[in-house]
Formats: sequence, C-alpha cells, structure tokens
Amino acid sequence: MAAASAFKSVILVFTIRCQYTIKLMLAADKHVAATPLTHLSEEESMFQDSVRRFAAERLAPHVRAMDEAGVFRKELLGEMFELGLMAIDVPEEYGGQGGTFFQAILAIEELAKVDPSASVIVDVQNTLFNNAILRWGTNDQRQRWLPRAAKDTVASYALSEAGSGSDAFALTTRAIEADDEYRLTGRKLWITNAAEAGLFLLFATVNPEAGYKGITAFLIERNFRGFAVGKKEDKLGIRASSTCELILDDCRVPKGNVVGEIGQGYKVAIETLNQGRIGIGAQMTGLAQGALNHAVAYAKQRKQFGKPIGEFQAVQLELAEMAVEVEASRLMVYNAARLKDAGQPYLMEAAMCKYFASQVAERVASRAIEVLGGVGFTKDYPVEKLYRDAKIGRIYEGTSNMQRLTIAKQLLGKP
Ligand SMILES: Cc1cc2nc3c(=O)[nH]c(=O)nc-3n(C[C@H](O)[C@H](O)[C@H](O)COP(=O)(O)OP(=O)(O)OC[C@H]3O[C@@H](n4cnc5c(N)ncnc54)[C@H](O)[C@@H]3O)c2cc1C
Repeated sequence: MAAASAFKSVILVFTIRCQYTIKLMLAADKHVAATPLTHLSEEESMFQDSVRRFAAERLAPHVRAMDEAGVFRKELLGEMFELGLMAIDVPEEYGGQGGTFFQAILAIEELAKVDPSASVIVDVQNTLFNNAILRWGTNDQRQRWLPRAAKDTVASYALSEAGSGSDAFALTTRAIEADDEYRLTGRKLWITNAAEAGLFLLFATVNPEAGYKGITAFLIERNFRGFAVGKKEDKLGIRASSTCELILDDCRVPKGNVVGEIGQGYKVAIETLNQGRIGIGAQMTGLAQGALNHAVAYAKQRKQFGKPIGEFQAVQLELAEMAVEVEASRLMVYNAARLKDAGQPYLMEAAMCKYFASQVAERVASRAIEVLGGVGFTKDYPVEKLYRDAKIGRIYEGTSNMQRLTIAKQLLGKP
C-alpha cells in the first residue's frame, strides 16, 4: 500500500513538473516564433517583385518565338546580367548582389512561371557555377571568375558524357599533367548554356585507375586552345536554353585553373549538384504555378452552357487539386533552400523537393491543358509549352530514380 501511494506521488510530481516545463517552453517560444516558410522579408518581397516584372514585361512577349527558334535573345541575357540575376548570392566584393541562396531560388521560380528556359539559365549560373567557385575556388580564382560571371559572362557546368549520365563518375575525359598545365582530351554531352557560355566548370580524370578519386574540376575558358563547343541539341522542351556537346582535343589548361584539390572533383560535383537540385525544384514549382495561373484565368472567362467553366464544380475541384500540389511543392523547395542558408543539412530535402516538384510540374501542366480544352493543345496558349518544358525536371541534375536512391540511402543510413 505504502509503495503504491509513494508511486502515485512520484507520478503526480512528475506530471506537475512536466506541465510546468511545457508551459515555460511555450512561453519562451512566443518570443522566438518560427517564421512561416512562405513569409518573405521586405527585401525578398521587393526582389521577387522586380523579377516578376521583368518576366512579365520583358520576357513574356518573346517566349513563344524563342521556343520556336530554339535561341535565347541576347539582349534579354544582357538585361538579366544588369538586373543582377546572374550572381544573386555572390558577395558584393566579387561583383555579385550579396543576396542569399533563397533569393536565387525565388528568382528561378519567378522566371519559370513565364519561361523555364530563362529560369534554367539563371539556375545553372547561380546554383551550380557561382556556388562551386565560391565554395571550392581559391580567393584568387574567385577574383578572376566571379566578377565576370556577375557582369556579362555566361557559365556552364560540364559533368555528363555520352557513356556517363546517372553513373557520372564513370567519366572518361582525361587530364594529363604536362609542366605547368594539364592537357584535356574527351567529349562532354548535354551541357546547358554552352552555346552562350564563356566559362566552363568541367570535370575530367587525372587517373582513371583511381576511379572517382581521380576526378578533378577544371575551369575552361571558351578561347582555350583545343576547346570547342560542338553540336547543339534540338529538344522537346526548354528549347531556348542551349544544350551542347563540348569537344576537348589536347586542350591546354593552366594548373591555376584546377578548382579544389586534384582528385577531389567528385566532392565538388556532388556537393554542387546537391544544392542545384533545389534550383530545379524551384524551376518546376514556378512552371507548375505558371500553368495553374493560366488555367484559373481561362476558367474565369471561357463560357460553356451559358456560364464560365470555373462555375462548374468539376473544374473547381480540378483547380483546387492543382493548387494543393503547387503549394506542397513550394513548401518543400523553400524548406530545403532555407535549410541551406541556415547552414543545416539539406541533402535529403533537396532530393525530395526536386523529385516531387518535377512530378507536380508534369501533372499540373497536363491538367492545365485539359482545363483549357482544345486551345490548350495549341501553341497559341502557353500551357502546351509548359507541358513540354516540364519533362526535363525528371531527367537533369539526377533522374527521378537517382533522387529516390539518394533519399533511400539517407533513410537506410548508407554512405
Ligand atoms: C536538356 C538537358 C540539359 C542538361 N544539362 C546538363 C548540364 O548542364 N551539365 C551536365 O553535366 N549534364 C547535363 N545534362 C545531363 C543529365 O544530367 C543526364 O541526362 C542525366 O543525369 C541522365 O543521364 P543519361 O541521360 O545518361 O541517362 P542514363 O543514366 O542512361 O539513364 C537512363 C535511365 O536509366 C535509369 N537508371 C540509370 N541507372 C540507374 C540505377 N542505378 N538505378 C535505377 N535506374 C537507373 C535512369 O533513371 C533513367 O531512367 C542535361 C541533360 C539534358 C537532357
């Protein structure tokens, strides 16, 4: 009896203490309330508005023609540099805007609502090239290349080859040491921005026997002897963004252009792509939002059976489901980007948001075409193009299978 009553007293004291502690924690939390993910600071909001205006006023009128021609207008590229969109999170000392990675994500999303091609140009420059140089370049290398990437020079990220896509580290482009330079020979495939680029972050192996530990990152300038941009691909979507082959034929690269350490290129590649995936998530989220916007606008004005089709519950349910998916996609992307800016791990969140957002983009763009009916299937309305553009989200910067494998490895604690 005595033991039971002592036990009850202990539980009572424990309960009171716990409640007291929880109350204290709640009180403290009121003063440091977590910010909602989609809440933008004044600066972020102003930045987003300026990109939105550029996309609506300058980009939108040219999107269809650029898609048909498969070429991005040079003067629009120039305007993207002038607006600071090509070096958003590069510190001001290197000529950049001194912004955050999250702001780069906002820009990629806004541009994709109107043109996913413009979006990927900004994406590769910011999330792949600039970030790799910032993270792995020496101070001298940052001084040499980042001000150019901020001012007027487009950049590319060249990892893939004909025989090495998902298995990226099976690359065979060879770098042979010769005095104060390396001589590179091989072919790169699928390189975004290559038609316009002046700077190429390119991966080659200094020692094929060492496997991935031979991979090394090099900075190639377009005018280097032995380097040429080859065939440009004729694509299903993001047609105004160039995708080209690169040819290296005994290309001479000064030793001062090795980025990171010899044999550490696999780290440069992996870590850069991890954050790049958040950019692709943002591109796909923006694309889906753009398609939804067109569907909503059309549902309000298209009349059938004597009233706007948006008055039919079946159409309303369709729009609602699309909106839910876009919101979920955005939350995942923003969370991954905010984690990155906070210096916290984001590997799994980046893979998840890219995987999910690329599915959402495809589904939402497809449903938007259906809301528009027959005109949605024509080139007179933008959703047909967004549907074509969506397909690439599941392929580049790691296919959907590769994202799922990354997520599974994290879950199972595999390296
Ligand atoms: C428009 C465009 C732009 C691009 N831009 C760039 C760029 O700027 N820089 C760059 O370096 N690369 C770029 N790429 C290349 C892109 O990253 C690769 O295409 C992609 O990684 C897939 O490689 P792959 O095409 O060789 O397909 P593969 O690797 O041959 O894959 C074919 C299929 O097999 C599946 N598969 C392969 N291995 C496995 C596995 N182990 N388990 C399960 N499934 C598997 C894949 O998921 C896919 O469905 C671009 C590609 C395109 C189309």
